Amino acid sequence: MVLLVDRALVRGDGPEVVGAAIAVRGGVITAIGGARDVLADHRGGTVLDHRGHTALPGFVDAHVHLVFDGGPDPVGAVRAADPRALAAASAARAETLVRHGVTTARDLGDRDGIVRGVRDGINAGRLLGPRLLTAGSPITPTGGHCWFLGGVADGVEQVRAAVLARVAEGADLVKVMATGGTLTPGGPPNWASQYGVAELRAAVDVAHAHGLPVAAHAHGLAGVADAIAAGVDTIEHCTLPAGPDTDASPARADAVLRAAAKAGIGVCPTLHGGLADLPELLAAPGFHALVARIGRMRRWGVPLLAGTDAGVPGAAFDRFAGSLRWFTEAGLTAPEVLRLATSDTAAAVGVGDRTGALAVGLDADIVVVADDPRANLSTLDEPILVLSRGRVVTGQA
Ligand SMILES: [Zn+2]
Repeated sequence: MVLLVDRALVRGDGPEVVGAAIAVRGGVITAIGGARDVLADHRGGTVLDHRGHTALPGFVDAHVHLVFDGGPDPVGAVRAADPRALAAASAARAETLVRHGVTTARDLGDRDGIVRGVRDGINAGRLLGPRLLTAGSPITPTGGHCWFLGGVADGVEQVRAAVLARVAEGADLVKVMATGGTLTPGGPPNWASQYGVAELRAAVDVAHAHGLPVAAHAHGLAGVADAIAAGVDTIEHCTLPAGPDTDASPARADAVLRAAAKAGIGVCPTLHGGLADLPELLAAPGFHALVARIGRMRRWGVPLLAGTDAGVPGAAFDRFAGSLRWFTEAGLTAPEVLRLATSDTAAAVGVGDRTGALAVGLDADIVVVADDPRANLSTLDEPILVLSRGRVVTGQA
């Protein structure tokens, strides 16, 4: 198969190939270059003619929850759901993701191995969806954030055992809840730590010994600092809310985040596109301070990850592109945002050797859009064509 486009953006940003053809065989990019040369080498195959359009690498969403429905009460819905119905709904959400250009997604909150089943179904070609990396059930203390997903572990020994259980069941990474959150009825508040450095370090030691990265859910500054000290791979949320146990003074917060930069620990701010629909949020100075902090983190060298938290209230599976506006607001240029949404996040979640760029030998994860997104980011809202590991995903859901 050969895809013809006006231009191909190699890593989301430059370099670009103008008048490009991309040849795909066996799900892999086998050639990219000027149309005349590539077509001469690939006579007789299918040609997808998208001259007039722009190709870029498929998007990477580093933070989704396929078992959550994105409605007002995802927790009630997931607790009440029959496993078969939940599996079918999760598979449908995976399909929605890929139809909107997300060709890799990291799921950070499974229940009962449902997402693992979806991942395996996609890999076997039975289901349509992105390359899925699943953390299995998040590790959390008794009564802690998202305890109802089944990953309860108290103390160092139980945390070690929980990580070994993830390894045994074939998880792609480990998710640990360093602080409380906002979803769990009766759970600890988001500023409060749920684990100390000892438990977090135990999770990292066991996971890394088995080759799995660790993503730490952490809102409060104390939890973020402990997660950095423990050597996790990514910090999820990092909202730094004020709280009685959290010294959220700007200077202290900046010092902690500079430590993340020094350690090369990524931050996924998980601001989704639906937040733009909340006028009271947009009017809150704290929200804009949070967005501004994203820009500072980038300037200090903190690796940022694109991620939507799709599945939590208001976070839809068809709005990945809408989540990118917050990075623009944080001061990134459009080419920088494109690179963040593709190659940077692919590298940060450990799949940079398979996807995130349009290059020979990488999987054919390709999004085709009408306009040049470097000049018009909103063209990403409606991909015209998506290839996911070479499989054609036509149009939108
Ligand atoms: Zn989440």
